[in-house]
Amino acid sequence: MSTFLKRLELQGFKSFAAKTDFEFPHRVAAIVGPNGSGKSNVIDALRWVLGEREAKQLRGDTLGNLIFAGTPKRAAVGFAKVSLVFDNASKLFPIDAPEVVLTRRLDRSGTSQFFLQDAEIRLKDLQPILARARLGARGLTMIGQGQSDLFVRSSAEERRLMIEEVLGLREYRLKKNQAERQLASSEVNMEKVAAMLEEIAPHLRFLRKQKNRFEKRAEIEKDLHTYENSYFAHHFHALTRDIATIDVPLTEAENERSEKEKEVFNSERELKGLNEQSGDVEHAKQLRATLSESFAKRGEIEKMLARAEAKLEFQMNMPVNVVRSAGEMKSILETIESEVKAMDSWTELEKIKHALKNVAERIATFLRAAPKADNSQLEADIARVKESLAAVQNEIEKIRAEEETLASSQQEMNKEFRTKVELLEAKKNELRKMDQVIQQRRLERERLKMRMEELERDWRALGRSMDELATMSEVNDIVELGDLERKMLRMRGELSAIGEIDLNVVKEADETETRFSTLSKDLEDLKKAITDLRVLIKELDKKIHEDFKSAFQAINGEFDNFFKLMFGGGHAKMKLKLPEVRVADIVANEEGGNGEKQVVEEMKEEKPSELSAGVEIEISIPRKKIGSLEMLSGGEKSLVSLAALFALISVSPPPFLVLDEIDAPLDEENARRFSDLVKAFSQKTQFIIVTHNRSTMEAADILYGVTMGDDGVSKTLSLKLESLAQ
Ligand code: ATP
Repeated sequence: MSTFLKRLELQGFKSFAAKTDFEFPHRVAAIVGPNGSGKSNVIDALRWVLGEREAKQLRGDTLGNLIFAGTPKRAAVGFAKVSLVFDNASKLFPIDAPEVVLTRRLDRSGTSQFFLQDAEIRLKDLQPILARARLGARGLTMIGQGQSDLFVRSSAEERRLMIEEVLGLREYRLKKNQAERQLASSEVNMEKVAAMLEEIAPHLRFLRKQKNRFEKRAEIEKDLHTYENSYFAHHFHALTRDIATIDVPLTEAENERSEKEKEVFNSERELKGLNEQSGDVEHAKQLRATLSESFAKRGEIEKMLARAEAKLEFQMNMPVNVVRSAGEMKSILETIESEVKAMDSWTELEKIKHALKNVAERIATFLRAAPKADNSQLEADIARVKESLAAVQNEIEKIRAEEETLASSQQEMNKEFRTKVELLEAKKNELRKMDQVIQQRRLERERLKMRMEELERDWRALGRSMDELATMSEVNDIVELGDLERKMLRMRGELSAIGEIDLNVVKEADETETRFSTLSKDLEDLKKAITDLRVLIKELDKKIHEDFKSAFQAINGEFDNFFKLMFGGGHAKMKLKLPEVRVADIVANEEGGNGEKQVVEEMKEEKPSELSAGVEIEISIPRKKIGSLEMLSGGEKSLVSLAALFALISVSPPPFLVLDEIDAPLDEENARRFSDLVKAFSQKTQFIIVTHNRSTMEAADILYGVTMGDDGVSKTLSLKLESLAQ
């Protein structure tokens, strides 16, 4: 039959300086040997590796004493190491391996480590695993030297825990303890969180108000922004349109004007041309000069003619008449000369002609008075002069004619000039009008541009960019502009009433809000955790309570049986005893105010009395009257304890039991009973027993002899009794 604990390995632990192995292939192993050889050290090693933390429980002042201290003949070692090798076929360990190795190691620096399958594990994590496998360092599963009466001398509460351990309920107790610790710390945390929330709340209310103001401000700003967009876009586009509306005709007008200007220029040039044509005036001047020359010439000729005619007349008159004195002649000629000269200033041709005729007649008269002499030469001269005169006269006529033609053409020209001047004036007038129109339009455009500049300035003053304005589309369904302006005004008023808001406060509001919600969430989580833990604790309590209750009755029955067996009659009974203080608490609570009523209800519901009830022992021994357990002898106490132990393991057999000289106080008969029981129970439970008792040794399948040599080091010697028997 296989065993649960397969091997124990010791190294440097107490007196086991060297590496020592104990193989446990059999259900009952007895460790035997002389006093002080180190047998109990083996049990200490088992306790230690199973998580014992108290040096006292390991029979040492300090944990450092667990390491081999050295002897005069053997040097001390640096560490102690103990390993247990378990068979895991029954899966008592939640590990998927056929064998489980649990190791504990301690060095001189005080470092203590646990290893499960070579992986380090914290005791905290190991304990539930051990509890589940029903392996404990204390209690009834590991009864130390001098503890044979353990059950009797323990308190009612300790007895209950011992029973629970054997029943495998320690696992749930541990869980419950852990849950209670968590519950307590959750409750503390919950209180802290609630206090923090309470502390934050008023400040948060203030911050929220600030944030609301900020949000309201942002909302107004957003609306205002939209309105401003509409308003400015509207004006911007309207002005842009108006400017464009003015620009096009203005350009056209300017073009027209420049056309007109060209026309005026051309007209002026034409007029200038006409003016220049009045070079004909020069021509007229020349004509007049030529005419006056001709007149002078004519005068000369006429003078010559007069002289010639006078001479002729003189000559003709000579024979007949007295020759005219020279003085007379001179006087006549001077008269003619002055007359002709006078004619020079005349302009009228007819008058000149008439005067010339007079002169001619007087000359003829003079000549007629002249002697008829040979005047042919003279007459020829006169004729020639007359011809010249006629030629000059002719020339004068021609000039006159030309002058007239010139005058009439000048008149024509003047007329045309006037027409052109009028036309030019009209054009200039038009140009002036155009200038007026252009000026007006330019003014209008300037005015629009100024309004645009003003709009842009206002826009920029809002901190907005022109690009934004330019790309903004015009809102078609714009509300009435006045209405829009009023709204904008009102909003700006509202904004200034709200005032500036420190962004740090908003940031703080957000942070505090986050913190508040995190804390609120924490509070909720803690509340939930507390509820869950309470439920878990309740469930664990229920499990412990029910399992305990169902096993307790059976244990009680067996206890009585084993008691009878050991004492040859009598009665033994285990009784649950409510802790007095608890009862008092409940009574106090029940009498308390309403606030505590619920607590009372909860406590009743959880059956706290039964859960925390300790185990009392009532016995009656044949032929003896026992007032209290204290009255029992040492051996009797051990017998009652053994009856309880066997009652327990008969109801719920643990995987193995370690008993150190538990049989020491027993008489021979009881020692034999004990060894019989061990043998009987070894079917279900593996026993490791330190003993000096022969009958117990006989019950063992294997004996381990522990000896200590001169060097103060424990050594082993194993003896398989089965094989020996064979
Ligand atoms: P008994 O039969 O009398 O109960 P035992 O075999 O159970 O004796 P133990 O108590 O196991 O004996 O062993 C005690 C021995 O172990 C003592 O001799 C003690 O000197 C030795 N010992 C204890 N701790 C150490 C240690 N740290 N270093 C060396 N030896 C130690």
